[in-house]
Amino acid sequence: MPQVFPKTSIILSSSFISGLIALTLCESAYIAEIHRGGLNSVPEAQIEAGKALGIKPLGIKTLIVIPQAIRIALPTLSNEFITIVKLTSLVSVISLTEILLVGQRLYTQNFLVLETMLAVAFYYVLIVTIFGYLIQKFENLIDINLRKPNMLKEGELLPGISTDKKLENYKEIIYEKKGDYALEAENIHKSYGSHEVLKGIDLKVKWGEVVSIIGPSGSGKTTFIRTLNGLESLNKGTVNLMGNPFLKDQILTHSSKPFKNQIIHIGMVFQNFNLFPHKTVLENVMLAPQYHKIHDKGINQLTAIAMLDKVGMKLHAKKYPHQLSGGQKQRVAIARALAMEPSIILFDEPTSALDPELVNEVLKVMAQLAEEGMTMIIVTHEMNFAFEVSDRIIFMENGHIIEQGKPSELRLSNNERFNKFINNK
Ligand code: ADP
Ligand code: MG
Repeated sequence: MPQVFPKTSIILSSSFISGLIALTLCESAYIAEIHRGGLNSVPEAQIEAGKALGIKPLGIKTLIVIPQAIRIALPTLSNEFITIVKLTSLVSVISLTEILLVGQRLYTQNFLVLETMLAVAFYYVLIVTIFGYLIQKFENLIDINLRKPNMLKEGELLPGISTDKKLENYKEIIYEKKGDYALEAENIHKSYGSHEVLKGIDLKVKWGEVVSIIGPSGSGKTTFIRTLNGLESLNKGTVNLMGNPFLKDQILTHSSKPFKNQIIHIGMVFQNFNLFPHKTVLENVMLAPQYHKIHDKGINQLTAIAMLDKVGMKLHAKKYPHQLSGGQKQRVAIARALAMEPSIILFDEPTSALDPELVNEVLKVMAQLAEEGMTMIIVTHEMNFAFEVSDRIIFMENGHIIEQGKPSELRLSNNERFNKFINNK
């Protein structure tokens, strides 16, 4: 550089600065790459879970993505730190007064070359080892898998909870029921490229109504309920929520004010739970209410514990998601949706990822919610459940609603396609 641009020689003649610049240039690219890898490996489903809770992009980054990305990137980062320690001692060979140079100076005086260099090597290994040890400690500190919190004992209270009796007051979800319908979707169209998946779906859901959507795989059920809470954009159509405009064509979208203001009133439960793995059960349930400041912290906590109690998971409040069975995870996910005190909850095949013996514990919780008057839209393959619990069943195929009605009416349906589907189940 100094030969091409003589002026740079003022700075670059200092070997410390030139070494620093070289290392920074070289290492920052590697480290940026490691961070990018960490950020990319946080599953998209985690981001969707954040969106469904109405958390804004910055909140999703700081509360959900970055804490997980750091955990993924840390082992690689620590390797890189060790490399840097080694490289800085390489730079020292050029002239930086560092351990190797000190060694050289020493043996020119005492002529004990081997012994001095051995001592130098010893110090060098010591430095790297201490570095490695500290980083390892830090890695363990933030490693969720190493944490083994116990279950609460029956009657044991969580911090901030004076008596369990108090909890009963927070179990009921209270919201204003404006108009006849909790949700009205009209003429919903959705295409992926040239593939038209939803071809004009209409659905009005009354307050307290439980609507099950059934139909063959690929008929558009998931796509439909994901358009209702903005996880998929609409090509055409209108969604009103609690009597207010919510989504419309491409005019009112997930970035419009009415959507942002109201999204907290729709809860969603995913097929794969999508709990936040770096948070305890209680923290998972409290995250969104705290973010949105639904109540002050004490009340948010009471509500969260009351909801965990509702789904039978209170005693697991201090555990992490990886310590739970599938059925327990899904019940926590339901509590997480409930803690936002939603007006309506969407379920996308909530039991499809579960072992058969765990399905019932989740269905039982959902049946109880239905009984309590929660408004729900449920995509499911559990026919018996749908026929027992629903006020209305909707049969979708190929992006259309082909048949719908009360379970009692549908038992007498003479729609050939519908009967064939039901009888094959
Ligand atoms: P269901 O839930 O009824 O099984 P989906 O709504 O998941 O059906 O899918 C309906 C159709 O839309 C399928 O043919 C699927 O391949 C397509 N599809 C779903 N998501 C996407 C996507 N992100 N990009 C392209 N096509 C998609
Ligand atoms: Mg689906």
